Amino acid sequence: MIPVNTPFLNGNEKKYLNDCIDTGWISSEGPYVQKFEKNIANYIGQKYSTACSSGSAALDIAVKALGLKKDDEVIIPSFTIISCAQSLVKLGVKPVLVDSDYETFNMKVEDIEKKIRPQTKAIMIVHVFGLSADIDPILKIAKKYNLKIIEDAAEVIGQEYKGKKCGSFGDISTLSFYPNKHVTTGEGGMILTNSEELNKRAKSLRNLCFSQDPEKRFIHEDLGWNYRMTNIQAALGVAQFEQIDKMIEKKRHIGNSYNKLLKDINVINLPIYKTDYCENIYWVYAITLKDDYNKTAKEVILELKDYKIGSRPFFYPMHKQPVFNNMGLFLKVNLPQSEKLYEKGFYIPSGLALKNEEIFKVSEVLHKVLV
Ligand SMILES: *Cc1c(COP(=O)(O)O)cnc(C)c1O
Repeated sequence: MIPVNTPFLNGNEKKYLNDCIDTGWISSEGPYVQKFEKNIANYIGQKYSTACSSGSAALDIAVKALGLKKDDEVIIPSFTIISCAQSLVKLGVKPVLVDSDYETFNMKVEDIEKKIRPQTKAIMIVHVFGLSADIDPILKIAKKYNLKIIEDAAEVIGQEYKGKKCGSFGDISTLSFYPNKHVTTGEGGMILTNSEELNKRAKSLRNLCFSQDPEKRFIHEDLGWNYRMTNIQAALGVAQFEQIDKMIEKKRHIGNSYNKLLKDINVINLPIYKTDYCENIYWVYAITLKDDYNKTAKEVILELKDYKIGSRPFFYPMHKQPVFNNMGLFLKVNLPQSEKLYEKGFYIPSGLALKNEEIFKVSEVLHKVLV
């Protein structure tokens, strides 16, 4: 079986993990946590960072740190992971969904402004699958209406928009270090910001809002979570991050190899290689079936499985999620591009440990299945 993702752990991971065990520092108090935070903040270009237990946790913290509350509205793409919407819904904040561009997979910038109402407080930018979202026009809208930016850069660690790192644009930005992301800590996430105030709140929310005043240690003014990252996770992260440039080069190598090998299959659309503002980083290698092709993505995924090739469907649009529809959310929402992406899209193996011969094998099987 060629799995859809396999992480690459061939640097100093073992050495730093041994160090955790040798020194006894295994909890979130250990020194790797701050080291990892500092390295990532410097790299992305935000002043402060807060490591936490997952990318979903980072979003929960970001939304609460911004002070968003019941009946506020936040504009987000429908075509993304559930974490983006649930971080809002759980606090009573209403996600207002925008459709996505069929070719870049990113939120349609031209649809954002018509969704803005007095209740709108923020825009959540999510970079999807490897191309940066088109940031400048979104920042312009945010400025015009005085909206905050939450930037979810989980899928594009190392990607740049016009030469500046993704994750550097949000009032508050988030990352994930799940094993299919470009840097992994097994499970983990991070919150980034230039604001001292937001940083303080993020650190407090991560740690159950314990008081910073030693005399009031167990007296709580607000509710947070235990979303702390352990020293063991951070040790992995520090080792992984030492190789970030190599990881990105590898991702682009995989993407560009598939681009060449698959370009003669005429029933599919390949991912865009570059836009005016970025070059694809291929977090996943995302394919859509052409309109007139007679198989669905679901059928292709099953056939690939018979050939022992792992693949995954695209995100199920947020406005169709039963959990939200059952809460009365999104019942009249109709976003055709997001729905079509789900019908037509799938992604193929592109993990950092993927070997060249596996890329050839995947291509060979795709040529057999996609006829
Ligand atoms: C992976 C991902 C997350 C969630 O991260 P976890 O660490 O799995 O909780 C959030 N947002 C986006 C865009 C992601 O791709």
